[in-house]
Amino acid sequence: MRTEQAQMFESGDIVAVMVGVAVEGPYSYRVPEGMALARGSIVAVPLGPRLVLGVVWGEPRDNVAHNRLRDVAHAYDVPPLSEELLRLVDWVGRYTLAAPGQVLRGVLRSPEALEPPKPVIAYRRTRHEPEKLTPARLRVLDCLMDDMAWPKPALLGASGVSSSVLDGLEKTGAVEKVEMPAPPVVLPPDPDANPSSLNPEQQTALDQILALSAHDFGVALLDGVTGGGKTEVFFEAVADTLRAGRQALVLLPEIALTSTFIDRFTKRFGGRPAEWHSDMTPVQRAKVWRGVLDGTVRAVVGARSALFLPFRELGLLVLDEEHDGAYKQSEGFTYHARDMAIVRAHLSTARVVLSSATPSVESRNNANVGRYVHVRLESRFAEAAMPDISAIDMRTDGPEKGEWIAPVLAREVFAALDRGEQALLFLNRRGYAPLTLCRSCGHQYQCPDCSAWMVEHRFRGVLMCHHCGHEVRTPKVCGECGEADALVAVGPGIERVAEEAAARFPDARRVLLSTDMGSHSQLRDRFAEVERGEYDLIIGTQLVSKGHHFEKLSVVGVLDADLGLAHGDPRAAEKTFQILTQVAGRAGRASRHGKAFLQTYHPDHPVMKAMVGGDREAFYAQELLAREAGGMPPFGRLAALIVSANAQQDAMGFARKLLAAAPMADGVRLYGPADAPVAMIRGRHRVRLLAQSGKDFDLSGYVRFWLSSAEKPRGDLKVQIDIDPVSF
Ligand code: ADP
Ligand code: ZN
Repeated sequence: MRTEQAQMFESGDIVAVMVGVAVEGPYSYRVPEGMALARGSIVAVPLGPRLVLGVVWGEPRDNVAHNRLRDVAHAYDVPPLSEELLRLVDWVGRYTLAAPGQVLRGVLRSPEALEPPKPVIAYRRTRHEPEKLTPARLRVLDCLMDDMAWPKPALLGASGVSSSVLDGLEKTGAVEKVEMPAPPVVLPPDPDANPSSLNPEQQTALDQILALSAHDFGVALLDGVTGGGKTEVFFEAVADTLRAGRQALVLLPEIALTSTFIDRFTKRFGGRPAEWHSDMTPVQRAKVWRGVLDGTVRAVVGARSALFLPFRELGLLVLDEEHDGAYKQSEGFTYHARDMAIVRAHLSTARVVLSSATPSVESRNNANVGRYVHVRLESRFAEAAMPDISAIDMRTDGPEKGEWIAPVLAREVFAALDRGEQALLFLNRRGYAPLTLCRSCGHQYQCPDCSAWMVEHRFRGVLMCHHCGHEVRTPKVCGECGEADALVAVGPGIERVAEEAAARFPDARRVLLSTDMGSHSQLRDRFAEVERGEYDLIIGTQLVSKGHHFEKLSVVGVLDADLGLAHGDPRAAEKTFQILTQVAGRAGRASRHGKAFLQTYHPDHPVMKAMVGGDREAFYAQELLAREAGGMPPFGRLAALIVSANAQQDAMGFARKLLAAAPMADGVRLYGPADAPVAMIRGRHRVRLLAQSGKDFDLSGYVRFWLSSAEKPRGDLKVQIDIDPVSF
């Protein structure tokens, strides 16, 4: 917490106000009669013909003539945003090259929260008896026997009367209306409600984390096997933070689907945490936002955007599954939640816990060089052991043509089912088949607007583009040559695996889990059913690899372990290693011994060897060497400039102009222009320039200078900047 005196402004002063709109820099306004503001105050100001939300940033940078200035229109009755948060907005804007106003809009995400919370209408009995007593009135008065006031909805529910009965009673004077303050969003979590007793290894891990002072900045990488109790350990770090009187934020990559996490939190802390994610209503959002700002909310479990909540006393940030790709935001202003969390914690002098069984190469490097404290959990909790992992060589031991489950794997699944255990078949590809082809003319179905195949979704009877969502009904005859019965599905998607599983394991209770298989709440229900053991065979995509704890699961089969390696992405090996470890780690999390099978055409690939040999250290070491040799992150910096336009030659032409305008700088290398990894999305052609520099070079600053001196994109041209792109 900072003790500096906040900058104050009174009527007649001129203030700089950052508006929550994607424009450069703050604008100046006059503070009107009777208004007092501070740096961080949330206000409404006129911008052109509109009123927009903004935040008082401080004194204006330039001298502005008084008479041309407009007044601040309104000051909201909420505490000012903290100094840390304002600095975070500045920092993020500078680093990602987004307009600070655009970043600020990420902070002011809940305009409803700025209105004073509505008091709750309640009723209380008076001394006065009504003249006419109907049965309905009696029921109300029965409820109000003692002197307590009852909130209206509760009273209506308990007495079973309509609103008009209350109105009638109020007129007789027998009850009176009172206003009660709105209840808190959530009960404050109790750090001592239900602590786990940690085993010695977990206790050591916690001690290492707590050795980071509760009042200082520090980062711990909690690097522990799946099922090792990482969650239990960081819960205790949350408890420690709450005891120190500070707020805690736990980020999850896929919060909308993780009701089990919320349940665990609720059990541990005796109350639900406040949540923050895209599935919330504006009213829920407003309550949480305001509670975080006024300090009544002490702990939040949220998605990456929770990083921009207006905490005033943030003491701990946890990123669960810190390696997860969902932490990268690539729409609007692009940022990586891991990096932002570190920056925010630094500004707030808070602790950070990065938790993962498969840390990102970046975080491993930071731990190796001592920037982060490396905290390890090497064994699973209680009698659970790590699963045995073996490769199935698809060249020699693969399935029959047209099938996807190898005989060895099928036998193991049968055996697990016989023992009354669960098995999981994993393929990281939604839909039925990634490609539809005409056997007669060779036509391949492609999205008209993207450079992507149309993926068949057989359950829904459509072909669908996974980039833009474009759909057509699955054709019966070839659209090109008109031949009937000539269209074939090529390659497997998860629905096709489900079809094969239905034929091979007809007696097993099967469930298909994929993001397109239902709403969030439906999927949450499915996961709960799996956890209760209501299914024997789980067939799923990436969705099932994350964080779930299926006690009866003993056999995991990865149908295409090579899938992620095919891309020309330098992070392909890392990503594949992470997802394989995560999915294999679902097996044998309780007392049952787990086995995982990787179907691969490349059993000698370093990733497969690291998996089968269980030698993750060798994998990280090798991956770090390769990154260092290539000057790739974390040893170098990258920035991508994506130029898009409706016509390919326009995008390419402008990218060439940009390249020609690039300033000379020692140590910066430029690549491209070349087609972006996805060369067309939604009908827009995309061309990419890449800038690469050493670690200590200010690449954001370089790109900013470059773009400020280059020609501005006009017409349908657009330039998007992605600092630290994750796939390149
Ligand atoms: P991770 O987050 O590392 O995958 P979890 O924290 O989910 O591991 O722990 C795995 C399982 O073991 C969970 O069911 C958890 O409740 C249980 N567990 C781990 N540590 C303890 C402990 N100290 N006391 C009780 N249960 C524990
Ligand atoms: Zn498309």
